[in-house]
Amino acid sequence: MDRQNFSMQDMKSVFEKLKSFSARPDEKGITRLAYSKEDQSAHSYMVEIMKEAGFSVRQDAVGNVFCRLPGKCSDLPAVGTGSHLDTVPNGGAYDGALGVLAGFYALMQFKPQQLTHDLELIIFRAEESSRFGFSCIGSKVLLGEVDKEKWVLNCDDEGDNFFDVIDKAGYQSNKIEECELPDNYFSAFVELHIEQGKRLELEKKTVGIVNGIAAPTRYNIEVNGHADHSGATPMYQRHDALVASAAIIDDLNRAACKEAHWGTVGTIGKLNVYPNSMNVIPGEVKFLVDIRGIETDSINRVAESLHRSIIKSQQDNNVEIKIREISSEQPVKLNQDICQVIEQICLDKKINHLKMISGAGHDSMNMAKKFPTAMIFTPSKDGISHHPDEFTDFNDIIIAADLLKETLYSLAK
Ligand SMILES: [Zn+2]
Repeated sequence: MDRQNFSMQDMKSVFEKLKSFSARPDEKGITRLAYSKEDQSAHSYMVEIMKEAGFSVRQDAVGNVFCRLPGKCSDLPAVGTGSHLDTVPNGGAYDGALGVLAGFYALMQFKPQQLTHDLELIIFRAEESSRFGFSCIGSKVLLGEVDKEKWVLNCDDEGDNFFDVIDKAGYQSNKIEECELPDNYFSAFVELHIEQGKRLELEKKTVGIVNGIAAPTRYNIEVNGHADHSGATPMYQRHDALVASAAIIDDLNRAACKEAHWGTVGTIGKLNVYPNSMNVIPGEVKFLVDIRGIETDSINRVAESLHRSIIKSQQDNNVEIKIREISSEQPVKLNQDICQVIEQICLDKKINHLKMISGAGHDSMNMAKKFPTAMIFTPSKDGISHHPDEFTDFNDIIIAADLLKETLYSLAK
């Protein structure tokens, strides 16, 4: 493939070729589970065209791919980009693949020694949790976050764990520690990815500049009242678990709305009522609370308000309420300086953009722990992702890929 003359049309043909690596090629959706035959073929294909284009390519002990274009000062930290090629079963063609493709396109636009820093494109392995039940394995390995004891317990449908699978695929699980990247490996990292939500589409924006990746804090709540006859029990004698729950739900919604400018959201998406009968006062209600955001203080304010609301509702409604934290993960703030670089390019090129947070997790979440990191989002039609109908207009892809190229140029020149 011809460097510098690598056009958007060439990018489109690589995209079409990648689509063909699917366990069920006759279906519209893509099935390319991590380390499956199809996933291996997709990676081999990318390695082949990278080498053909003259890049130096290496693979680490778990199969992460590194494609490098040397700059003038190869002793300086590199500027990186990358994403993943694996998919969920019957997933879309854009999730992950687009970031790999756009990164390849961007690297193809520069000559060796043209920029000061090296540029490097990474293809992360096993980003989706579909095969092993946990996600972003390749990027975790690069950060040295290998939890062997936990990981051996997670097996795929064949009963093989991650280590068995990579050894069978010809990689070396005994050398996994050697995959960790040194602290000065990258001076900046930028991942391009589809939004997987509807915000860009609804707000008619072409790209999203992602300045944070939200993390969920989750609670399990049990409200115990008393199930009594709906006709025979006067209002003042009731212990209505659903009325008590409704007050908490309303409070949570208000508390999250107050934090809207921080991007924090609160949801109760699952609720079970017992006995769930028209003529019986609800005696028991169980529901789950999901609070997400990128500002820890803001998340904490919503969580504290939830606790206060529970105490008040208990007293107001004569019920007993138990709250249990299921998880509390740390949100990731992305690098503001890189976001500003991206924004400046958008302003210069009159690209309609939106600063936003990502509700879904990505490899960049791990990269951000060690390297200054940001993300560029492209719109997802109807917000659909992990589904055969996943779609991003190629005109939007072109704009985003060029924006990535300009960003890498700015960071590496
Ligand atoms: Zn993805």
